[in-house]
Amino acid sequence: MSKMLNNRTDMPLQAVKTRIKNFNEVALGYTDDMAKTEASRCLQCKKLPCVSGCPVGIKIPEFIKAIRDDNLAEAVNIIKQDNILPGICGRVCPQETQCENNCVLKKSGNPIAIGRLERFTADWERKNRNRIIKTKAIMETGKSVAVVGSGPAGLTAAADLARMGHSVTVIDALHTAGGVLKYGIPDFRLPSDMIDEDVEKIGAFGVVFQLNTLVGQTQTVDELLEIFDAVFLGTGAGLPIFLNIPGENLIGVYSANEFLTRINLMQAYRFPDYHTPVKTGKQVAVIGGGNVAMDAARCSLRLGAEKVYVIYRRSEIEMPARHEEVEHAIEEGVDMKFLTSPVRFIGDDKRNLKMVQCIQMELGEPDASGRRKPLPVEGSEFSIDIDVAIIALGTTPNPLISQTALELRTSSKGTLVYEESTGRTTKPRVWAGGDVATGSATVISAMGAARCAAADIDRFLKNPSLEDKNNWLTES
Ligand code: FAD
Ligand code: SF4
Repeated sequence: MSKMLNNRTDMPLQAVKTRIKNFNEVALGYTDDMAKTEASRCLQCKKLPCVSGCPVGIKIPEFIKAIRDDNLAEAVNIIKQDNILPGICGRVCPQETQCENNCVLKKSGNPIAIGRLERFTADWERKNRNRIIKTKAIMETGKSVAVVGSGPAGLTAAADLARMGHSVTVIDALHTAGGVLKYGIPDFRLPSDMIDEDVEKIGAFGVVFQLNTLVGQTQTVDELLEIFDAVFLGTGAGLPIFLNIPGENLIGVYSANEFLTRINLMQAYRFPDYHTPVKTGKQVAVIGGGNVAMDAARCSLRLGAEKVYVIYRRSEIEMPARHEEVEHAIEEGVDMKFLTSPVRFIGDDKRNLKMVQCIQMELGEPDASGRRKPLPVEGSEFSIDIDVAIIALGTTPNPLISQTALELRTSSKGTLVYEESTGRTTKPRVWAGGDVATGSATVISAMGAARCAAADIDRFLKNPSLEDKNNWLTES
């Protein structure tokens, strides 16, 4: 194999010493030359293995060829047929387990950097707004859809449905649109103004945004069904899971949701210019091993913590976080305590957190998740001094909507019961997709599910004979 095929083009990064003092993007993006060099490595395979690894089916070799041919407007148009949020996906998708995992060059250890090229294309579009050509004239259908939730699932469903000619209103509980993209993922991985621009572009399709509206309280799903022909629920999984160990209610113990929302949505890292404060510890322990844990740990460093531990009960191989995020966190000085589990938090006489007691773990046989089960090692307890702990163990859907909408069935995990291929829920005229149906997953899987649901809603709205559309439940 030639040298060029072997060499994947590296992503330029902010230097470690500089980046741990700011919230600016760590990955700086390819230059034109880097993108062309990387695009030239693509073999233009006829069988499209990479496309089958992408949940929204981007025509990967086609857009890479357009980059190689210096036709970036065409590259944008090709990507946008299938993915309305390429700048976001190019930055945060776990490409290493999706499209890039299927690339034939993976065998050599150097798959095409598909995500980086997608990001490059999207960034070119941001800089050259007026140069994008293709927009199809839309025939209005006279039908209306309420999309509840403005995360990646809601935004994708809204864009698709609007482009199909339906009148779409996106409703969100927060004062700004974007879901986890806006309140969870920090600016140093995903700049917040990029999300605002994408929301604005979706607004340009005629989508209306109704914010500060908590469905299940301000308006129920049944009330929405009186106004709209169909409802799509993309309300995510925003309810944090806790450890349920002694001391979890001490001062200084946060859920990652609250910690990251203060920092990202409410801009607490710019306090006092912004009004929301955040308690910044000197010694911080983040509990968990996913992207959320990495984000919380790296935010803590940037807020001035002297020591940040990530406490994870399995080993590095089992960590669900993206490999790149773990690597960046370690480079920045995060101390990974693998095979370790917290047993109790200990406070001082004023109930301020001062210590976490942990136990060493070892891996046993694989459990239901297929990963080896962590088991405590008897007599191995030890303590770490900390003044802030951040719990990042995952989330489940908030039950507010399912408790207030008759007929919406939920699973034992609190997710909405739905048909995966169509997004149909157990309630007529109501569809769902994204984390609310799967539990916390990924941006692109939420987008893929929303595209399936939007296609099915469109079929239903254009064919009233499908009215009794939720009989998939009785058929199965
Ligand atoms: P969300 O993004 O959660 O959006 C749901 C929206 O619904 C929110 O805006 C919420 O305000 C609104 N809502 C909820 N209830 C109501 C209601 N009753 N009424 C009105 N509105 C309501 N995935 C990746 O692929 N890569 C990553 O690197 C990555 N990093 C992550 C880092 C963090 C910190 C977190 C928290 C998640 C991360 N994820 C990542 C996961 C990813 O962000 C989610 O899987 C994805 O955002 C799910 O999209 P969604 O549209 O289903 O829900
Ligand atoms: Fe290009 Fe890899 Fe896709 Fe083949 S599998 S078309 S080499 S990106």
